[in-house]
Amino acid sequence: MSPLEAQLRARIEQGGPISVGDYMAACNAHYYASRDPLGRGGDFITAPEISQMFGELVGAWLADLWVRAGRPAGAAYVELGPGRGTLAADALRAMAKAGLSPPVHFVETSPALRSAQAERVPEATWHDDLASLPRNGPLLIVANEFFDALPIEQFGIGGEALTVTLDGDRFVRRGIVAREASPVSVTIAADLARRLAAQGGAALIVDYGYAGPSGGDTLQAVSHHAFANPWEAPGERDLTAHVGFAALASAAAGEGARVIGPFGQGPWLEALGIGARAAALIRAAPGRHDEIETGRARLTAPDRMGELFKVMALISPHWPQPAGFAR
Ligand code: SAH
Repeated sequence: MSPLEAQLRARIEQGGPISVGDYMAACNAHYYASRDPLGRGGDFITAPEISQMFGELVGAWLADLWVRAGRPAGAAYVELGPGRGTLAADALRAMAKAGLSPPVHFVETSPALRSAQAERVPEATWHDDLASLPRNGPLLIVANEFFDALPIEQFGIGGEALTVTLDGDRFVRRGIVAREASPVSVTIAADLARRLAAQGGAALIVDYGYAGPSGGDTLQAVSHHAFANPWEAPGERDLTAHVGFAALASAAAGEGARVIGPFGQGPWLEALGIGARAAALIRAAPGRHDEIETGRARLTAPDRMGELFKVMALISPHWPQPAGFAR
């Protein structure tokens, strides 16, 4: 039995059932702190690890907004949960081409991933949470597959918060899921919006999730690229939940940010010119043709990441309209 499992058992035996959110938070804190879960040899793969085109287009999107905002001085690049730092490295390269080379601030709790990030972006400054991010100058914020790792609470038909308890040796959730919410995510969306309204800038949130009201149980565990049981091996599997974009949007709008989207990742990347970027990369390296086209298809095809993954922008009220969201 892992130390985390022993700890969770003792907690429930002594203090009674814990909320689904407390279980998810404890599991993921241990999971991310103890490994680099990304890539073929890990548990899951993300858009920036599939193709450099993802981070490049994110960087180009941010740079375009910054240029049309009048190239304000003192802008900082901020990424929440930057994984291996791949997205940041690709985005920074693309931003530099537009004359934007901002200081880099990473919000990351995992020591294992902080060291992976330091290899790719050594000049970054790390933060445990949003509170210590710079308070002057516009923020150019990116969060890719960050919110889905944050804890959710689940509620039953009568509105009661569901709990996790022990049934003999096993962890079990009690009750039937009618609705989900992620108070932690809502708080972060509100914090981001408040910063954008005060300091200028934009936040790009990319994740898989739903645009309307929540329905049913979306909590899942992923291990070695396959779904697994979330109530087994706590802290050894990635626990994720679909992101409720509507709740994030209303929290952000309430703090004065303009909310654009959510919009499908596929159409957004197409509108930003992933086709032209792929063609340019293939011209420069014809031997990479298949890899580049496969990456593009995985990121954009409706039956791959193109529709389930969504892009939502929070924009400072004083900043221009972002590219890529027109239907
Ligand atoms: N954005 C990356 C990684 C996604 S995995 C990519 O696209 O490849 C989720 C990331 O969020 C990891 O870096 C993980 O360590 C981080 N993370 C999870 N919970 C966090 C929390 N509460 N605070 C800060 N970072 C967190």
